[in-house]
Amino acid sequence: MESHDESIVRLARTAQQRGIQVFREVTTGCWFASSASKPETLHRVTAVSCDCLGFVAHQRCTHHSALLARLGWFPGRRRIARYGGL
Ligand SMILES: [Zn+2]
Repeated sequence: MESHDESIVRLARTAQQRGIQVFREVTTGCWFASSASKPETLHRVTAVSCDCLGFVAHQRCTHHSALLARLGWFPGRRRIARYGGL
């Protein structure tokens, strides 16, 4: 069974494969992640939360993991290099 950290890494890879992008709103500094299944939808994400059903149910999701990867707050030493072109 994978650890929480391993699942974060896996979900961030999945987010990358699905083309999920992370955006920061200038006026508020809030972060948002695009939805793979609903192109018109943005999910509000923070370092500890996401408003999607997956996060509510499992405390992790592709959007949240994509934000951690974007911020370089990846767990452990395993990182996704050049995530999102950074
Ligand atoms: Zn989510």
